[in-house]
Amino acid sequence: MDFSEPEHLELLRDTVHRFAERELPRETVRRWDAEDRFPRETFDKLAALGLTGLTVPEEYGGAGRDILGAMVVIEELARHSLVMAVAFIDCACYGGMNIGDVGSEAQKAELLPRIARGEILFAYGLTEPDAASDLASVTTRAAREGDEVVIDGTKRFCTAAKEAEYIYTLVRSGPAEARYENLSFVLVPSDAAGLTMTHIPTMGLRGVPSYDVAFEGVRIPAANIIGGEAGWNRGWPMLAGPALDVEKLEVAALGLGVAQAAVEDAWTYAEERIQFGKPIARYQSIRHILAECRTRLHAARLVLYQAAWLAGEGLPCGIESSMAKLYATEAAKEIALAGQTVMSAYGYATEYDMERYVRDALLLPIIGGTSAIQRNNIANRLKLPR
Ligand SMILES: Cc1cc2nc3c(=O)[nH]c(=O)nc-3n(C[C@H](O)[C@H](O)[C@H](O)COP(=O)(O)OP(=O)(O)OC[C@H]3O[C@@H](n4cnc5c(N)ncnc54)[C@H](O)[C@@H]3O)c2cc1C
Repeated sequence: MDFSEPEHLELLRDTVHRFAERELPRETVRRWDAEDRFPRETFDKLAALGLTGLTVPEEYGGAGRDILGAMVVIEELARHSLVMAVAFIDCACYGGMNIGDVGSEAQKAELLPRIARGEILFAYGLTEPDAASDLASVTTRAAREGDEVVIDGTKRFCTAAKEAEYIYTLVRSGPAEARYENLSFVLVPSDAAGLTMTHIPTMGLRGVPSYDVAFEGVRIPAANIIGGEAGWNRGWPMLAGPALDVEKLEVAALGLGVAQAAVEDAWTYAEERIQFGKPIARYQSIRHILAECRTRLHAARLVLYQAAWLAGEGLPCGIESSMAKLYATEAAKEIALAGQTVMSAYGYATEYDMERYVRDALLLPIIGGTSAIQRNNIANRLKLPR
């Protein structure tokens, strides 16, 4: 068993680290959070490094489908800026991974080279006001009219809907009784006529805004059905397939990055903060908190990268990806809260980053399937009797 990081991943980590030192200084990242503004110009600089090609096959201008590499990029970006890490996911994963896996030949030829160049972002339009964990209950309707698809309904918490070029949208496309056989994915340009977007202010992930998106008679070409004609009413297998496993890993990698940042800041603070004549790092209460955080961080890293390795090898990883998502995101939440305890008042003040890590970390067990849903997956797939 070899747990050492391969050289190409080390190089990748170093590339992202140098980008972060140059383009993601703390004051810049704090400003994005305060203004809740998406920094497209910085994402364009990231794209210029060619990193979004990590999920795109070579014949379409990418570097090949490198899931471990994508996780390294997400983790390292999230360590400095959740915003930049999510933007990478919007392009390389929501776009590259999905289109590469289930797109039609025409969609691959048109979109994958643009994704490899980092030119286009994709928002995920899955959640609705009355369909969240239970995604098979979405009611946004898609009806065929000649060469077009007409869409009516509402998506909620659609992150980056306005900033992205496309909304990767889950729609009800067939008769209501066929719950799992009447869903499709369609690609809706974010400037399509009939779309109305309303910003939903949130406590974390500020800088990549979320929106309610209303679809009123939105018309798109039938060519935008993901997977082409063969993809009509095949949305559920696309959703429940390998793409979902990788999505869980993406959120786990976000958690790992935020947790790493929180541990590092708390560690440094504990070494520097003097009370009762010595650094607080010398007090057992603080030492135990930090030792616990390091242990959880280490465990989160192992569970994530083992699952990512399985996914990259094309091996079944439904259980492991749920475990990674559950463990790494809950660990991120606990570590950020522990970091806040170590920094105490300064972990609560907006002049430091810890309060942002707390706000961001609280989101991660919710998105990409809540922790309860991951626990359900693990128990069900391990065949615990119901
Ligand atoms: C900032 C932000 C960004 C987001 N971005 C996106 C996005 O880009 N695209 C998108 O489609 N969605 C997005 N979401 C939505 C997110 O994916 C949902 O919030 C998530 O799926 C859970 O839905 P819910 O919070 O409404 O909880 P619900 O599904 O209503 O569940 C409520 C509670 O009940 C529990 N629960 C539900 N069902 C079960 C069950 N069967 N067994 C046990 N417990 C259960 C849940 O764990 C949760 O604790 C975003 C959300 C936020 C806050």
